Amino acid sequence: MSDDSIREILIAGGGTAGWMAAAALSVAFKPHQCRIVLVESEEIGTIGVGEATIPPIQLFNKILGVDEREFVAATQGSFKLGIEFVGWLREGERYFHPFGRYGDDFGLAPFHQHWRRARTLGSGIPLDAYSLNHQAAYRGKFEIPRPGSAGVFSTFSWAYHFDASLYARYLRSLAESRGVERIEGRIAEVVLGPENGFVERLILADGRALAADLFIDCTGFRGLITEALDTGYEDWTHWLPCDRALAVPCTRVADPVPYTRSTARQAGWQWRIPLQNRTGNGHVYCSGAISDDDACAVLMANLDGAPEADPRQLRFTTGRRRRAWNRNCIALGLASGFLEPLESTSIHLIQTGISKLLAWFPDRNFDPLVAQEYNRLVDAEMESIRDFLVLHYHANEREEPFWRQCRDMPIPDTLAEKMAMFRANGRLIERQHELFHPPSWLAVLLGQGVHPATHDPLADTVAPQELAAILGGMQHVIDQTAGSMPAHQQFIDRNCRAAARIPIPLASRDLEP
Ligand SMILES: Cc1cc2nc3c(=O)[nH]c(=O)nc-3n(C[C@H](O)[C@H](O)[C@H](O)COP(=O)(O)OP(=O)(O)OC[C@H]3O[C@@H](n4cnc5c(N)ncnc54)[C@H](O)[C@@H]3O)c2cc1C
Repeated sequence: MSDDSIREILIAGGGTAGWMAAAALSVAFKPHQCRIVLVESEEIGTIGVGEATIPPIQLFNKILGVDEREFVAATQGSFKLGIEFVGWLREGERYFHPFGRYGDDFGLAPFHQHWRRARTLGSGIPLDAYSLNHQAAYRGKFEIPRPGSAGVFSTFSWAYHFDASLYARYLRSLAESRGVERIEGRIAEVVLGPENGFVERLILADGRALAADLFIDCTGFRGLITEALDTGYEDWTHWLPCDRALAVPCTRVADPVPYTRSTARQAGWQWRIPLQNRTGNGHVYCSGAISDDDACAVLMANLDGAPEADPRQLRFTTGRRRRAWNRNCIALGLASGFLEPLESTSIHLIQTGISKLLAWFPDRNFDPLVAQEYNRLVDAEMESIRDFLVLHYHANEREEPFWRQCRDMPIPDTLAEKMAMFRANGRLIERQHELFHPPSWLAVLLGQGVHPATHDPLADTVAPQELAAILGGMQHVIDQTAGSMPAHQQFIDRNCRAAARIPIPLASRDLEP
């Protein structure tokens, strides 16, 4: 290690962001190389939501050396194959955003172009029939592919639902076992250096002072250090107008389905996240379009089971800090900004923030070019997720004033280009650093009623009979594979059942058509 190496990292905040950062940094640095300290306040607590994830979290777990089954059991977790969107296009409609791909590319055009052409030739088979994730999800099935499983599993992917507080506890035990030191205390003051304005130390309410070379701000929406650095915030409410949420857990009334449900409501949407021991619910809404009381009534009238607590309100402003990395402080999690939870991307952004930090790890000279590159990458990723979320709101045919306003709002140019290209001939623009790949865009574009006028002419190079045979074969394999998987609950019971689960009679299982 050089003399300029970072010797001490101070993580402020012990929610999901703080403990993810602590756990990952403890893998990267041994205690004798770099001291890692996390300060958190039990009195303040954590936000307590953030229970649905996306597949790249598997990679994070691998890096931490987490055993998947042990982790699911420890967090009352379940498996997630995608998100069902109910009523987003209009009342009575639903579609599924599956993780994983549709079919397999062949010939000279992507799979969906062949599917689109087959429709013009008279095929009535929906795109969903070519998604193993979709077929398994709606049959309530799940399994982790074994090594050597059939090739169709290369199109299959999964993530998790878990209890947010158990997840933070799980990460904490991992991080502490690897030498991370935890300090209990409330940060009262951020002291900046008089010459360069860098963070020098944090002062706790009891007077203790905590100094470090590098500070990681994981203090949630407060963004304590980031605010002290006068970082500024870019407000995206004009594109993502929801600014409040009410969250409430309810009892489990059926076996957990392997997907999240998002149901459009008059001025926002409601989530349902099935865990082993309970169901997480929340109503995300726009305070300018519905009162808190009415939003609460909508949520409570649409629970599957009995509420297990009073609903908790959360307020937020969608957008991002102007610089995620400012001087010697990097903001992660809610401290760095917030894109609403529609596609479960916040925990993922913590993960990629940590991996970018490791890729661009500074020394004590804090070259501004390093921070600049980090911020450029973070910005590009957030903007692509923002566009994806805006698509869900913008392309709707609902009648309520809130939804009409979303339909009429100006959208980012980058999104407008993608939609125009897709409408012309089904081609999907994929930019660098995009989290969501073409199959995700395809699912949401079609689900939100954006249809191509025609298909890619290169799809015409396959003879109609051959096309029918290839598509028929793929559909058959997917159907058989999904059908032969165990039920999601059965898989959990055999592999990762959490302690103290109350058994549910089989007759009340909640399987979708
Ligand atoms: C309604 C809603 C739904 C969401 N759903 C999802 C989802 O499904 N999937 C997903 O990926 N993400 C979701 N998120 C985002 C997710 O909750 C967060 O990204 C994640 O929980 C990380 O939060 P955090 O650690 O940044 O903040 P917090 O959990 O708020 O933690 C902040 C920490 O800082 C500490 N702290 C604050 N001030 C001080 C102080 N003065 N002194 C000492 N300590 C302090 C607190 O005690 C706490 O430990 C959702 C967010 C909202 C608002």
